Amino acid sequence: MKLIDSEKIFDTLKRPLKDLRISVIDRCNFRCVYCMPKELFGDDFPFLPQYEMLTFEEIERITSIFVSLGVEKIRLTGGEPLLRKDLPHLVERLNHIDGVKDIALTTNGVHLSKYAQQLKDAGLHRVNVSLDSLDDKQFGKINGRNVKVSTVLKGIEAAEKAGLFIKVNMVVKKGMNEDQIIPMAKFFKEKNITLRFIEFMDVGNSNGWDLSQVISKKEIVEMIDKEMPLQPLDPNYFGEVASRYRYVDSKTEIGIISSVTDSFCSSCTRIRLSADGKIYTCLFADKGFDVRTLLREKASDQELKESIKNVWFNRKDRYSDERLEQTIKGNKRKNKIEMSYIGG
Ligand code: SAM
Ligand code: SF4
Ligand code: SF4
Repeated sequence: MKLIDSEKIFDTLKRPLKDLRISVIDRCNFRCVYCMPKELFGDDFPFLPQYEMLTFEEIERITSIFVSLGVEKIRLTGGEPLLRKDLPHLVERLNHIDGVKDIALTTNGVHLSKYAQQLKDAGLHRVNVSLDSLDDKQFGKINGRNVKVSTVLKGIEAAEKAGLFIKVNMVVKKGMNEDQIIPMAKFFKEKNITLRFIEFMDVGNSNGWDLSQVISKKEIVEMIDKEMPLQPLDPNYFGEVASRYRYVDSKTEIGIISSVTDSFCSSCTRIRLSADGKIYTCLFADKGFDVRTLLREKASDQELKESIKNVWFNRKDRYSDERLEQTIKGNKRKNKIEMSYIGG
């Protein structure tokens, strides 16, 4: 697809727009305790009906507009993105947009063995697989569906075999899985796969987040460094979310995503598109901008472009920078969007 006139845009804090995260579905085959607790996401949960979700044509069109405004990297997420029918076909369509430099996917890995090769052939570059424990009993409890560790590991193997670049994401929550920090670090060091530890975040309104349940970046690094010495590395690029470290005796890296204790809003270049076509300028937003209506009311490319520019020009978000102060003051933001709706 041909690029419409290209330009770079900056928000009120001079942050450029660079990354687009597309949630392709709000459903998931897991019920992770920190994301979609099964008590709240039961059989009667009102997930989006098909007609409310953007079609692949609509996603492709809006993505090409984002690309004309500086987006270079795209991440597909969910819910569980591999539950969206024909996802490799969407990857192929996005890969044909001039100016797209990188397409990545975040998945729980359950369907990865089935789709890894098709995704690679369609033009996917990278995959982040979420795995919070190597212990079946603990992992089954966390994912809420008793899915086994081996199912996810098979997905990772298939992705490796297909030639995808892989990282593994582990959410760390006190009392849930901190005993797995070292076993997971050792396991993925051996495999030469970057493991990224994610501080438990107060996304959405359903996961019962409390500051006391957060294991900080500092604690994680100290724990690993004691067993397997680490050295810090510089970021690869402006806006990199994870702080990088390398094991002193190997080439393998780890990353820490410290949204809570060491936030990175000043370099946040990400915009998010929900499965039902709303744009969010922050993971912790409470309202989005509806592009689906514009798309379905036949707005021109120029009209769509102007609306997105306007959203980005007005962006002031720095929720994580303000969180600690607001939490201490007891000011909780209500009605935040759920992580399963907007993706990570
Ligand atoms: N279902 C896919 C998966 O789990 O990889 C993609 C969507 S999921 C919402 C994206 C990422 O968000 C996952 O790596 C997940 O572990 C992370 N996540 C979800 N809830 C979180 C929370 N409360 N704190 C930190 N990370 C969270
Ligand atoms: Fe599903 Fe991913 Fe949320 Fe787990 S973290 S419930 S796999 S969307
Ligand atoms: Fe970006 Fe919002 Fe996260 Fe800050 S809190 S890094 S602005 S998504």
